[in-house]
Amino acid sequence: MLYFDNASTTKISKSALNAYINSSENFYNPSALYAQALESKKLIEDARSFLIKYFKGDKNSSFIFTGCATEANNTVLNSCITRKDKKYIISAGEHSSIHNTAKSYIEKGFNIKFIPLLSNGGINIEELKKELDNSVALVSCIHVSNETGAINDIKQIVDLTKSLSPNALVHSDGVQAVGKLNIDLKDSGVDFYTISAHKIHGPKGIGALYIKNPNKFKPFILGGGQEKNLRAGTENIPAIVSFIEALKEVKIKDYSKHKKAIMDNLKVDYILISDMYCVNNIISVCFKGVRAETIQHILENKDILVGTGSACNSRAGINRVISQLVNYDYAIGAIRLSFEDVSVEDCKLVAAELSNAVDEYKKRINK
Ligand code: PLP
Repeated sequence: MLYFDNASTTKISKSALNAYINSSENFYNPSALYAQALESKKLIEDARSFLIKYFKGDKNSSFIFTGCATEANNTVLNSCITRKDKKYIISAGEHSSIHNTAKSYIEKGFNIKFIPLLSNGGINIEELKKELDNSVALVSCIHVSNETGAINDIKQIVDLTKSLSPNALVHSDGVQAVGKLNIDLKDSGVDFYTISAHKIHGPKGIGALYIKNPNKFKPFILGGGQEKNLRAGTENIPAIVSFIEALKEVKIKDYSKHKKAIMDNLKVDYILISDMYCVNNIISVCFKGVRAETIQHILENKDILVGTGSACNSRAGINRVISQLVNYDYAIGAIRLSFEDVSVEDCKLVAAELSNAVDEYKKRINK
């Protein structure tokens, strides 16, 4: 089977799975005071220190562990969107966990501005500039688009924001950036950064949120005083330990030859959304007049699994992000190829089968 849907989720690695199983033996509640519980607490604190070091966090920064990246993203918006006299800026290319939360604040009467996208799905910096003023309290912009692979320059966005909106905080959803880009949180200057384990061969149901200034942070999930009062709920030690194990195995690789092999072997008309400013292993390509779900099923019958835009959007009909970039006829035929650890030959084969599937579809409807 050829799995080309890694942006949707990845298979847990053997060592992450072993770490999960082994640390499950440590079932003690880390908030208790006996020695066994202190051992549990140490596992969490070691994991937290690892994240701060790995992502080069700022001097007083911290990470909180969350139930998923969706929770981390919700946390940022819910903690920061508090005043109706302020403006909150969200890129129009965010994952649904940001987009739909932002929309819920519009319904409550808050001033939310969505910034339009460039043709590759990245944020339009010129449009962002127009909205930045003293009233802005938060800017949230995805680091790597889960739909198109577009890379947003977070340092540039932070610098721009802090110069034109000095009181604003900046959040970035880095879920798709981990394992694809080198990340230096201190250097970027970002205030919040979201990550998730299951996109990097860790377990599902665990994410983390980087917080540059924990002292100024208003928690979203209230309850017991876990996570230094920043996120209540008994910590999921096996998932946390396994997440770190997965991170230790991450290797950033060059996929330019793979992307080229795919593009060279697509023998039908298409619009390529993922340009040279995108990571090479997330490719969004649109075929006119075909339905992406049907293409997906034709390929599935050949043991090739691909995405139709984001899995989180795929039941909602037309893809929200892609439909901003190409017209309807192309947007309904948007296929996302996201991969890792496949060969150039595999990429050629997938592109050839994808071309055949599009041909087959067209022949069927023209009968
Ligand atoms: N943000 C991005 C960019 C994603 O791709 C995803 C997953 O699809 C999420 C957030 C949500 O992650 P999780 O499944 O951990 O809630």
